[in-house]
Amino acid sequence: MVGGARRAPTVGVLALQGDVREHLAALIALGVEAITVRRPAELERCDGVVLPGGESTTMAKLARIFGLLDPLRERIACGMPAFGTCAGMILLADRIVDGAHDQETIGGLDVTVRRNAFGRQVDSFEDDLLLAGLDDPVHAVFIRAPWVEAYGPDVEVLAEAHGHPVAVRQGGLLATSFHPEVGADGRVHRLFLDLVQR
Ligand code: GLN
Repeated sequence: MVGGARRAPTVGVLALQGDVREHLAALIALGVEAITVRRPAELERCDGVVLPGGESTTMAKLARIFGLLDPLRERIACGMPAFGTCAGMILLADRIVDGAHDQETIGGLDVTVRRNAFGRQVDSFEDDLLLAGLDDPVHAVFIRAPWVEAYGPDVEVLAEAHGHPVAVRQGGLLATSFHPEVGADGRVHRLFLDLVQR
C-alpha cells in the first residue's frame, strides 16, 4: 500500500452468550473497531472474530438458531482469523471429547479438545504461564477449562499447563483454554490482532 494510514481492523465478538463485554473492552483498549456479532450481516463486516468464554453447547445451539454457524464455518474456511477462549476454543475445535450429545462446533482448528478437562467448576484455577511469542508470563485464569488432547501437524503449541497444550495457533486461528480477556493484560489479544493484520 502506498501512502495513507492503514485502517484499523474491525473485529467481531460473537455475542450470543458468554463474556462478550470483557473481549470488547480488551479489543477497544488496543484501538480496533470492536463490534458484537449476532447476525450474518455483522459477521460480513469483520476482519476477524473472537469466540468468547461461556458455555460452548449453548453458543453452538444459538449460533445454529441465529443462522451464524454456517457463515462462521465458511468465513473461517476462507481464512478469516479467529480467536477462541475456553468455550471459544471448543467452538473452533474440529473434534471434541466429552462434548454434549450431538454438540456441534464451528471447527477449522485441527485439534481434539477435551471439555471440562481440569475438572468441574470447583477445580478452576489460575497460573502464570510462559507463552511463545511473549517475553513475560501471562496470568492465566482457567474456569471449567478444556485442554488440547491431540493436534494435527499444522498446529503450533504456544503454552502448556498440567502437561497439556492450553494455547495453540494454526495459521490465523488462535485458541486458549484460559481467559486472557479477564484482567488488563492485552498481550494475547495483541497476538491475535497481529494475525488479523498480517
Ligand atoms: N466448560 C465450558 C464449555 O464446555 C467452557 C467454560 C468457559 O468458557 N469458561 O463450554
